[in-house]
This record gives sequence, C-alpha cells and structure tokens, in this order.
Amino acid sequence: MTESDTDKSVKKVVPKTDEELIGEHMSYRNYMRDVILGANDGLVSLFALVIGVAGGGQNPKIILLAGIAGTVAGAISMAIGEYISTKSQEEVFDAEVRVEKEHIRDYRDHEVKELTEFYREKGFEGELLEQVINKITSNEEIFLKDMMMTEFGIVEEERRSPLKATIIVGIAFLLGSALPVLPFFFVTTPISGIIIATILSTIGLFSIGGIKSFVTRSSIIKGGSENLVLGLAGALITYIIGFFVGINI
Ligand SMILES: [Zn+2]
Repeated sequence: MTESDTDKSVKKVVPKTDEELIGEHMSYRNYMRDVILGANDGLVSLFALVIGVAGGGQNPKIILLAGIAGTVAGAISMAIGEYISTKSQEEVFDAEVRVEKEHIRDYRDHEVKELTEFYREKGFEGELLEQVINKITSNEEIFLKDMMMTEFGIVEEERRSPLKATIIVGIAFLLGSALPVLPFFFVTTPISGIIIATILSTIGLFSIGGIKSFVTRSSIIKGGSENLVLGLAGALITYIIGFFVGINI
C-alpha cells in the first residue's frame, strides 16, 4: 500500500459541537416521517388521479374540479387516519405508564431489583451499583422513566402529539397534491396540463424520494429514482384506464 492509499482511506472527522450532536437527535425526527409520507401521498395519488381523468379526454376545468375534490378528500382521509393511529399509539403508551406506576407503588422492591439487574448487566457492581440505584430511585419521575425504558423500551422523547401529527400530515398532503393539480388551473388544453403536471410531479417525486434517503442516510439518487419510477408507473396505469374508459363513454 502506498502512502496516498492510506491517506485516502482516512476520512477526516470534523468534530461536532454538543449542540450539533443534540440536533441530530432532535424531536423533528418524530414528525419527519409525517411530512414525507403526507407530501408523497398527496403527490402520487393526485398525479395519478388528474392524469387518469386527462387520459379520458376531459377538458382542463373538469380535470381541475376532479383534482380539487380528490385533494380535499385525500387530505381529510389522510388526516383522520393519522389522528387515529397516533392517538391509539399514545393511548398504549399511557396505559403502559399507568401499569408501571402501579408496579412501582405496589411492588417497589421487585422493580428496584429489576432495575439493579439492568444496571448490573451494564457493568455496574458493588458500591457504585448501589449508589446508582439509590440515586435513580430517590426521584420518582426518573425512576419511572428508567423503568419504562428497561421494561417497555419506551423513551419519552419519542412521543408524538396526535393533533400536531394530523396537521403536519394534512398540510404536507395539500402541498404535495398542488404540484399535479395546480397546472390545470392555468391551461386551456388537457395535453398542456398533462405536460406541466408531469414535469412538476417528476421534480417532486424525485425530491421527496431523495429527501427520504437523505434523512435515512442512504443513496439520494437511488431513493429519488425509485420514488420517481413508482409514481410515474402509477400515473401511467390510471392514464391507460382513463383512456379506455374515456373512449367508451
Ligand atoms: Zn414493572
């Protein structure tokens, strides 16, 4: 191995500040999934819908009307789904907190023993282990939090507000669906609407797929292309169906 080879293999690590490290684990991650999911859902479903109606040879005003109805219906359905699923998730969490509070109240010795074992497995022993356990159990809130983590693997920071998640998903859906729907507001022929909607949706599909990959730290090009191909395939299917239904009615 030459010296330049070793040079290349050593990646320069720029030290991160505490703020940067904390930022990488910030709570926006809890809602990032909603933004990506909502925007992509709005884009994919409305792109397929307007292209399907356009494939049937409808005039731009009819396509626009179908697009607006689809956008509103989709955003409502998406928001309701998100609200119910996040809320039930939170209810499960609340129930587990209640169970654990009861454990700590009624079977305190057992819970302390469990916590002790947990820290023993981490390598604490003797006097130090005793000190750690005494410190944790002296604060009821910290004791509860630690038991939630030990027994249920739940971390408080991962909790999500149902209302916040619902609003974020709804707005993301509206923004995503605007790309394929809005062009039909300005055009006079279906074909020009199809072209502009397809260009905007292509950019949107690739960007959302890329952002998703950026967040999960995988290949941006691969994630973008994958999302683009799937979205275009969906629109092609509705276009073909719309075309054949259109010539038969
Ligand atoms: Zn317990």
